[in-house]
Formats: sequence, C-alpha cells, structure tokens
Amino acid sequence: MRCPYCQHDKTSVIETRESDETIRRRRKCAHCHSRFTTYETARAPGLIVQDPLGSRRDFTQAWLAGALVVAGANLPGSALKKVAANVEAELKTRGNGVVSVVEVASTAVRELVQARTRSAARAALPTAEQVGAVLDAGFTASRQASEQLPLPIER
Ligand SMILES: [Zn+2]
Repeated sequence: MRCPYCQHDKTSVIETRESDETIRRRRKCAHCHSRFTTYETARAPGLIVQDPLGSRRDFTQAWLAGALVVAGANLPGSALKKVAANVEAELKTRGNGVVSVVEVASTAVRELVQARTRSAARAALPTAEQVGAVLDAGFTASRQASEQLPLPIER
C-alpha cells in the first residue's frame, strides 16, 4: 500500500479498530511519517448500480425495496421484498455485474406490475421515472456523505 502523500510503498499499521462491518487501520508512512487511514469491508460478488454521473453503489434488495416504498409502491412489504429479489436475479443475468439506475427502475416496475397481478390488488404503482428519481436521490445523498470523509481512503 502506497502512502497517499509521498507514494512511498512502506507503511506500518499503528492502530486497528474493528466493528461488525469494517476494519479501520491507522497507518504511518515509513518515509514521510504521515498518518492515514484505511478501511476494509468484506464484499460478496454482487451487482453494482451506476448512476448517469458515474457514481457506483452496491445493489441491495433492502435499498431497492426502500426506494419502491418512497416512490409510492403501495404493496405489502413481503411483496416488495419478492420484487426486489426478482429484480436482483434478473439483473444478475445481464452484462458484467454493472447495471444502470434506468435498468433497475424499469425492471422493478415490470416486477411490481406482476406482483400486483399475483395479489389481485388494485394498488397504485409508481412509474419507472418515479422509481428512478428516488434511486437517483439516494445516490446524491451518498455522494455528499462520501465527500465529507476527511481522510484518504484506500479500497
Ligand atoms: Zn509518505
């Protein structure tokens, strides 16, 4: 791992903090003695969603189901979970594991329509544009959050 300040390739770990999802290490450069932080997170091979500006995030079923609720999909939680699982399964068969917000939204709406048909309900459903707008808003929020991180991050 290279020092983010001087690019020297010898650094030492001076502190390690572990939480359930992340290991955070404070490191010190052997050359310029600068300190910086690295984060380790475990990653299962999964789907990546990319927004039109090129930002990426992991696809999770909870993320999509939550967005569908916000967008106004008026179906029971169990039905929305199933929709999210179906969307993930379908998108995983495409391309190289990276899908666009538009693909996620249009696939989700198709699955919502089928879920409504199965449940014989007459629930109002959002359009793909409405779902896409909610997903985009989530990207903006996470972009702002990551811009607030004060330390260089090594992934
Ligand atoms: Zn250095």
